[in-house]
This record gives sequence, structure tokens and C-alpha cells, in this order.
Amino acid sequence: MPAKFVLIGSGLAGGLLAAYMGRRGYEVDLYERRADPREGNIVGGRSINLAISTRGIHALEQIGIADDALRHAIPMRGRMIHGKSGALHFAPYDVDPRKCINSIGRASLNTAVIEAAQRYPNVRVHFNRKCTDVDLDKAVCHLETETGKLTVGGDAVIGVDGAFSAVRASMQRNIDNFQYDESYLAHGYKELTIPPAPDGSWQIEKNALHIWPRKSFMMIALPNPDGSFTCTLFWEFEGPRSFATTKTDDDVQHFFDEEFPDAVPLMPTLREDFRNNPTGSLVTIRCAPWYYHDRVCLLGDAAHAVVPFYGQGMNAAFEDCVVLDECLEKCSDDREQAFAEYFSRRKKNADALADLAVGNFIEMRDKTASSAFRTKKKLDHFLEAALPGVYQPLYTMVTFTRIPYAQAARRARLQDRIVYGIFAVLILVVLFLFSRTF
Ligand SMILES: Cc1cc2nc3c(=O)[nH]c(=O)nc-3n(C[C@H](O)[C@H](O)[C@H](O)COP(=O)(O)OP(=O)(O)OC[C@H]3O[C@@H](n4cnc5c(N)ncnc54)[C@H](O)[C@@H]3O)c2cc1C
Repeated sequence: MPAKFVLIGSGLAGGLLAAYMGRRGYEVDLYERRADPREGNIVGGRSINLAISTRGIHALEQIGIADDALRHAIPMRGRMIHGKSGALHFAPYDVDPRKCINSIGRASLNTAVIEAAQRYPNVRVHFNRKCTDVDLDKAVCHLETETGKLTVGGDAVIGVDGAFSAVRASMQRNIDNFQYDESYLAHGYKELTIPPAPDGSWQIEKNALHIWPRKSFMMIALPNPDGSFTCTLFWEFEGPRSFATTKTDDDVQHFFDEEFPDAVPLMPTLREDFRNNPTGSLVTIRCAPWYYHDRVCLLGDAAHAVVPFYGQGMNAAFEDCVVLDECLEKCSDDREQAFAEYFSRRKKNADALADLAVGNFIEMRDKTASSAFRTKKKLDHFLEAALPGVYQPLYTMVTFTRIPYAQAARRARLQDRIVYGIFAVLILVVLFLFSRTF
């Protein structure tokens, strides 16, 4: 008899994992606390669109749904930097103009993965079922429904229930020495809108990720297929100028007029959006282990939530699905070994990504505006073109390859040391020759 898996959470990774497990022939029951996303209102305060790149696309390809899921995605070839004066500067992501990230709607991607899972008759998806507790030894979940309580079980439970995972909370309560660390940024985020032009077109460059870097904070905007952009303001929660002190519509208007003057005329609903849309928090979660014997396992944000500044949280969660699937194939008669191998392959990479993501916030909000940063990017692209396959910028490795995150970070540090070392030697040689000449 095929093993029976209970999956908790049909977000981005839950739907995709259910599809992978359905293909492997397991019996899968997927329980989601929200209503069916096809009935609308899926977003619930989360980003409306996200950037999908090589790792995420690879995971969709493996299950045969990449073309369909990416049908309405919009390629973004680089960063469009907006100065305070309204000056624009475009910085391509890679020396190869075909390498781009893609803006994709969260709701449509979620629907695509759930429908991929539902193509397998051995996968069942149940909405409006909220997990409240897991009996780890029995692989039994306690759920709340609109009409009462429910208990469901299987051979194993997989927690794919996001950053505030109930499955992980049960592990925290019941596993001795379970390691858990959560750290919140001092910044929160709020989503705002640039609507389409009257003729339905995009009011700013469509094929770019727009950034308004303002040192300690920033706004970004990603294009949507309907001609609109979803803007996200990342700003301090507290402080003299912050979400906390911006209380009235006039405060909002004043702040935007001062900081984002070129965007204001494009945002007719700014005041209402700012007032009505929630302010989200940004958390990094690290925990270990991600599994309990052969009974429970964590995947995606439930195991490793990261802040969104590398655009990799969902990409990494999708990559988890590929790796867990490989481990279940390799250790088909020993599920605990499969979980252990998945954890050992992914944990160091999730930790590396968490660090990279925090580091990229500083790069996006502060450094992208500086000429030193632009020069470094040009140097990166020059070296990449001059030394193909030898030199790869960190952003390229993270976004356009499937080199494990930890390895990419190590390799980038080594490359930087070599490049800066060579420059230091060149400068010394020039200084030496100069001193001999005069
Ligand atoms: C502002 C922002 C921008 C982002 N941009 C990007 C980006 O550009 N690129 C990128 O790769 N990543 C991005 N991310 C990260 C990405 O959203 C997450 O990494 C991704 O959603 C993780 O998928 P997941 O399935 O693990 O979790 P989620 O998508 O959070 O899904 C978890 C699911 O579990 C359900 N659930 C939760 N608790 C329970 C329960 N008790 N019982 C039953 N169901 C439950 C939830 O309702 C949800 O459907 C961004 C995140 C944020 C906040």
C-alpha cells in the first residue's frame, strides 16, 4: 500500500509538494485553513506578486507546469533606479540580456500548483481546515473547521504552513532541544498601487523591477499583467519618520511628495491604499531539526522563512520540493532517512539564503543609488563576460543558477578576495612604477 501523507497548508509550496507526491503515487490529503484561492481573496496581506527565477522555474518544469504557470508572468531584465530628482538609471541583472526574473501573481501561481496537484486522483485538497495541533508520534493532526473539530492522520505529516507554522509549533512544544530562532527586522512593509494608464498600458517601464532607494528605507514596484504595478514600501516601524508617526492622510502625502515625487502623480489611490492596506512584518526563522523520525517534516517558510530582498523565499521553497522528492525516491524504503537527507542538504543552504536576504536589503535600499555600486556591477559583468564559467557574480549564481546557496555565497567571497587582491597588487605596481618615473 502506498504511504499516506497529510500536508498542512496549500500555499505556494504546499500545492507544488502535493503535486510531486501525487506523481510519486502516495495518498495525499492537503488541508488549508483558508478558502479555495479560486474563490478569490487569497492574498490576505501578503505580496500580490513575486519574482520567480531559475530555481522556482526548474521546480515547475519538473512537474510539467512551467509554461502554463508562467503564461502571464512579466520578465524583468534589471533594476530601474529612481533618484529623488526623478532621474532614472537602469542596471541590468546580468551581462546576458536573456537572463531575467519574472513578476508573477501569487494568486494565479497558487491556483496553478493546486490544480497540478488535483490532476492526480490520489491527491485530495480540503479548504477551510485549520490545523491547531499535531500528535507527532502518531502523525495525527487536529483541525478546526467551520462546523467543528476534526482529527486526521496518515503515515507522515508535512508542515507546509508558512512562517507561523502550527506544525512547527507542535514540534517546538514536544521535541527536546528543538532549536528555534526568529528575528524581526525593524522595518515593515505596505503594498500600494500604480494603476494602468487609461489605455491599459504600464505607466513606467514594464520590464524592470523599480526601486526608489532612500538609504534607510525604500519602495519597489513590480509589474502586473493588467498594466498596474504593485508597489511595496519597506520602512521603519518606529522612529521620527516611520509608520508609527505617519498617521494622517496629509502625513502620507507629505512623506511621498518629499521622497518619491516622480511616483506620486502615478498613485491616485495613495492615501486610501496607505490607510486601508495592512502593514506587514518581516521575519527570518531558523529552526532545527526539520523532521521528527519518519512522522513529521517541515518545508518552505515553515522551515526557513527569509526576508524578501533576494526574491528567493518561494524559489527556495520550490527547490525544497525538488530535493525532498529526490530524497524520497532515493530512500524509498526508509522515510526517516529521506527526511534526514533532505534536512542535511537544505539546512545550510537555507541559513546561507537567510543571511544573503538580509544583506541584499542594505544593497537595494542604500547601495543601488551609489556610483561605487554601479561601478562594481559593471566590473562584475565585465569579468563574467571575460571569464565565462569562471567568474559568476553572486546575484547571478543565486538567481540564474541552481548552485546551492551556501556554495554560491562561499564562491562569491572567494571571487571578491581574488579580484580585490589583484586590484590591490595592480595599484601597488602602478604606484611603484610612478615613484620610479618621477
Ligand atoms: C512582501 C513579500 C514579498 C515576497 N516576494 C518574494 C519574491 O519576489 N520571490 C520569492 O521567491 N519569494 C518572495 N516572498 C517569499 C514567499 O512569499 C514565501 O517564501 C512563500 O510564500 C513560501 O511558501 P510557503 O508555501 O512555504 O508558505 P505560504 O505561501 O505562506 O503558504 C502557507 C499556507 O499555509 C496555510 N496555513 C497556515 N497556517 C495553517 C494552519 N494552521 N492550518 C492550515 N493551513 C495553514 C496558509 O493559509 C497558506 O496558504 C515574499 C514574501 C513577502 C512577505
